[in-house]
Amino acid sequence: MIADLSLYPDGSTLDAAGRLVVGGCVVADLVAEFGTPLFVVDEGALRAHVRGFRDAFARRHPRSTVLFASKAYPCAAVLGLMAQEGCGLDVAAGGELELARAGGADPATMVFHGNAKTDAELRLAIEAGVRYVVIDNLDDVDRVARLADAPVPVLLRVSPQVAASTHEAMMTGHDTAKFGIPSGQIAEVIARIRREPMLDLRGLHAHIGSQVLDVEQFVAEVEALSRLERFPVYDLGGGLGVRYVSSDVAPSVDEYADRLVDAVHRHLGAGVEILVEPGRSMVACAQLTVYRVVTVKRGPRVHVAVDGGMGDNLEVALYGQPFEPAIIDRDDEPEVCDVVGRHCESGDTLARDVALTRPRVGDLLTVPVTGAYCYTMSNNYNAALRPAVVFCASGTARLAVRRETIDDLLVREQLLP
Ligand SMILES: *Cc1c(COP(=O)(O)O)cnc(C)c1O
Repeated sequence: MIADLSLYPDGSTLDAAGRLVVGGCVVADLVAEFGTPLFVVDEGALRAHVRGFRDAFARRHPRSTVLFASKAYPCAAVLGLMAQEGCGLDVAAGGELELARAGGADPATMVFHGNAKTDAELRLAIEAGVRYVVIDNLDDVDRVARLADAPVPVLLRVSPQVAASTHEAMMTGHDTAKFGIPSGQIAEVIARIRREPMLDLRGLHAHIGSQVLDVEQFVAEVEALSRLERFPVYDLGGGLGVRYVSSDVAPSVDEYADRLVDAVHRHLGAGVEILVEPGRSMVACAQLTVYRVVTVKRGPRVHVAVDGGMGDNLEVALYGQPFEPAIIDRDDEPEVCDVVGRHCESGDTLARDVALTRPRVGDLLTVPVTGAYCYTMSNNYNAALRPAVVFCASGTARLAVRRETIDDLLVREQLLP
C-alpha cells in the first residue's frame, strides 16, 4: 500500500484491483514485460512539468532560457525530450554533448561546463558551436585562446560566496569550492579574458548547490552577482530542491521563478538575459524505481532486501537522501522495516525505519522520486546489470534504455590468457 500517492508522477492512480498505474500502465505489467529493477518514467507527466518550468520563466521574463542540466539524467531519450519541449541543455563533458546530440538536441542550444575541460572536449564544444562555453579557471582561458580560430562566446563562472544549506557534498557556491573563480580574483580574470581576442565575454555564471529548499538563497546569489561588474547575460545555475518524502516541504516552480525573477529585476535590471539550469527539479518526480523483494530477514531489525540498491541509487550513500519506499498492489498490517540493497556494503541501504505493508518475498517494492541522479550514477558494483528505462504515456510503454546484459559487462574485457 502506498501511503502518499502524491510522491508519484502526476496522474498515478490505483486501478479497481488496487494495482499501481503510472502513465496509464499497470506497473505489475511493466515488470512482467521488462523485469526488475526498473526505472519507470511517466513521459506525459515529465513533459507537462518541463513545459510548466519553461512557461514559469517565459511569462515572468521573456528573455530567459531554461537549460536542463544533463548530468541529472544523461540518456538520449530524456535529453531529446527536453529539446522537443524547447529547453536548452547544460552539458559538462564531451560525452554529455554527444548523448544530447544523439537524442536530437542542437549544440547551439547547449552551454558547456566543467572544472577540468580537456583540449579534446573544448575542441568538440567549439566545433559543435555551443551557445556558451563557461570559463571555470585560467587554464580554460589559455585553452580556448589556443584552440579557437574565431571568437567564442563565453560566460565566467564565479563563486557567489553563498553557502547553500544542503548536504556538504552538494554545496558549490563558496570560495573554497573547486568550482569557479574565488571572489577576490574575479576582476583580474575578467581583465585577462578581455585581453584574449578569441574569447567573447558575454556574462557571468553561478551555481550555489543542489537540493536547495530555501529560495531566499537564490536571491542571495543574485545579490552577490549584482555587486560585481554588470553584464548583459546571467546564468544563475540550478539547484532547486524537491520533495522526496511526505514530510518534505519544497518550493513550487512558480515560487522559485517568482523570487528569482523578482531578484533579477531588482538587482540586475529587467533588460538582462537570464539562463537557469535546473536538473533535479526537472526530472526527479517523473520517475519511480520498481524492485522485487528477494528476502525478508526478521531479527533485531527487519531487513527487506531487494534486487537492486546502491547500483541504481547512490543518492542515499552519497548524500543520505531519504526516500519513501512502498510495497505495492496489496494490503496488510504495516511493519517497520529497513529496505536494503543486494550489494556487499552495510551502507547499501535505501531507507531506514519505514512502515511497509508487511513484506513478503516476491512483492513489488517501489521507490518514488528517483528521476534525478539515479540513472546517471548507476553502476556495476558486484557486476550488477544496470536497469532498463521505460517511458510510459497514455497506457503505452516504450523502452528508452534496455537492461544491461552479461555480454555488455564482457564487451570491453580482453580476457587475457
Ligand atoms: C549540477 C549542476 C546543475 C543542476 O543542479 P540541480 O541541483 O540538479 O538542479 C546546474 N548547473 C551546474 C553548473 C551544475 O553543476
